[in-house]
Amino acid sequence: MLKIAQLTATRTIVIKDREPLVARENEVVIGVQTAGICGTDLALFSGDYPVPLPLVCGHEFVGKVKSIGEGVDKRWLGRRVTAEINNTCIAYNRTPVCRACKMGMPSHCQQRTVTGIINHDGAFAEEVAVAQGTLHEIPESMDSATAALTEPLAAALQTFEMSPIAENDTVVMMGPGRLGILIVFAVALKGCRVIAVSRSEAKRQRSLAFGASKALSPDQAEEAVKEITEGLGADIVVDATGHPDGITLALSLVRPRGTLSVKTTCGLPTQGLDMTKLVVDEIRLQGSRCGPFGPALKILEKHQEKLKTLITSTRPLAEAQQALESATLENKVMLRMD
Ligand SMILES: [Zn+2]
Ligand SMILES: [Zn+2]
Repeated sequence: MLKIAQLTATRTIVIKDREPLVARENEVVIGVQTAGICGTDLALFSGDYPVPLPLVCGHEFVGKVKSIGEGVDKRWLGRRVTAEINNTCIAYNRTPVCRACKMGMPSHCQQRTVTGIINHDGAFAEEVAVAQGTLHEIPESMDSATAALTEPLAAALQTFEMSPIAENDTVVMMGPGRLGILIVFAVALKGCRVIAVSRSEAKRQRSLAFGASKALSPDQAEEAVKEITEGLGADIVVDATGHPDGITLALSLVRPRGTLSVKTTCGLPTQGLDMTKLVVDEIRLQGSRCGPFGPALKILEKHQEKLKTLITSTRPLAEAQQALESATLENKVMLRMD
């Protein structure tokens, strides 16, 4: 029997035994080593992001391929891997493929399941089964806990796939938490100026350590950003506050024809966004979600020592309930299965 940590109701994780998984066609079963907890897991846990339950959460993970289904290349067996979260037509090698996949947007596959989020049990378990096309091998030099940061780092990079930045751009990063701090780091690597905004002194300090040129509290932000940008506003303001109203402050910081980039998936609607300012200032509103794993793995490999310091604690699977409860107060909590 295998252990799983199943979300059965709001704020309720039950540790259960389950039969070992059997890989279906074009699917692999992975023995999970480490899984990270992110803001999406916390929204699922709190019920703010409602999905069909019961569900095994966990979509940021590393493990070894234990078994493969029909149609899967045997070379995957025994490899240490992480996986993209969308199990798409293409990842399952299905024909015909849906229109979204045909259009080159497989992360929006109309028939997808999403590992650990939508209709697909995830990695807060000793085993997870995913479509073969989601797999990425982990370089040997990288430890598994650090490699479990691939998915969130890819999501951070996707911000600038959707809204490319130029060398001298000023980016404001609101909410430099689990995901936001990776965005701060990614922007600094590109050589752009990044200003972090947070209520938390600890998060401001960490932002400076990860490449922010300035770190401000929200009440200082508007005046300081104006001063830095000759009164115009920032080129891109990224909202990863995790709060439905983060976007309101973000709107006051962005320049005319700038971009408001939204990363918050708190599951709650925003009240009272000033659409008139959005129109008058011709501001672009851009969401973004899953990103490219290849570049994320390259960055992790190069900066592993620095990025692994973002992991604040690791708990065994049996303590998944406590891990989710404490994750709201920490940067990055990991579950380990062995
Ligand atoms: Zn995540
Ligand atoms: Zn599809």
